[in-house]
Amino acid sequence: MTVFNLGSINADLVYRVPHLPEPGETLASTSFTRFLGGKGSNMSVAAARAAARVVHIGAVGHGGDWMVDRLTEYGVDTREIVTVSGESGHAVIAVDDHGENSILLFHGANTCLDPEEISGALAQATAEDSFLFQNETNAQREAAEAASLRGMRIIYAAAPFDADAVQDVMPLIDMLVLNEVEAAQLEEATGLSPENLPVKDIVVTLGSKGCRWYETDKGEQIDVPAIQVDPVDTTGAGDTFTGYLVAGLDRGFSMRQSLDLATKAAAIMVTRQGTADVIPDLKDIEDARF
Ligand code: ATP
Repeated sequence: MTVFNLGSINADLVYRVPHLPEPGETLASTSFTRFLGGKGSNMSVAAARAAARVVHIGAVGHGGDWMVDRLTEYGVDTREIVTVSGESGHAVIAVDDHGENSILLFHGANTCLDPEEISGALAQATAEDSFLFQNETNAQREAAEAASLRGMRIIYAAAPFDADAVQDVMPLIDMLVLNEVEAAQLEEATGLSPENLPVKDIVVTLGSKGCRWYETDKGEQIDVPAIQVDPVDTTGAGDTFTGYLVAGLDRGFSMRQSLDLATKAAAIMVTRQGTADVIPDLKDIEDARF
């Protein structure tokens, strides 16, 4: 069984600054670090760390080879990542001495995907496999249709939130993963609370409160509390959670077991500074003895 993840691959370009730049100001940065980022990459790395077989479907542009190499190093199958002309996706992130940040995101190659190539990549999938996607690429609807034709389990992490994008793919998906803010935005757009949405399984993550799983066909709601930790940096907690959840299901665990695994991985993640590079693996979870 394999997780096919259609997702963004971004370079996070992090500049430390004494204060966030004002309009018109030229400001020297005191340090610069480049990280692998993007929701897609984060989820692929998380699923691979959870011991799933992961094929990433995506694109990089000019100078993006190091990100593909990094994903390969982290155990992700990168054969379906294409290189397109133009710039790779990247985020220019300024962080000041108080930890405040400002982020400028350029989608670049992530939104230059060819739907035909995605269908081609999914042609190797079977009904035993999972298809995961988010909202930082183009061609989500076409890809979900191709995955649906193959009978795959289809999971959509509706972030960054776009009400039209969610409604467009809702008839095709088996599971929707949202955070609390996104769930409220979806309710505002559709007039439907999670238990009334036409998707079989809905998981709403609630930060330090854990998550709620709505099994809509049975009319049941199950709460999974978060594990108490001292958070250092919550960036990437949601991506780690979703990657682990999908990996667990793909590996044949029950929904409840997969949610428990995802909750443990996300709890460790919030105690670490960084994103893709520091996503915990199964050994870290075992050692944590939650
Ligand atoms: P992000 O955008 O920061 O990646 P998100 O908003 O998508 O996150 P959250 O709901 O904040 O997602 O968190 C996802 C999961 O991570 C939660 O369901 C929970 O299991 C875990 N988590 C988040 N914050 C904490 C915390 N402070 N302590 C323990 N676990 C946490």
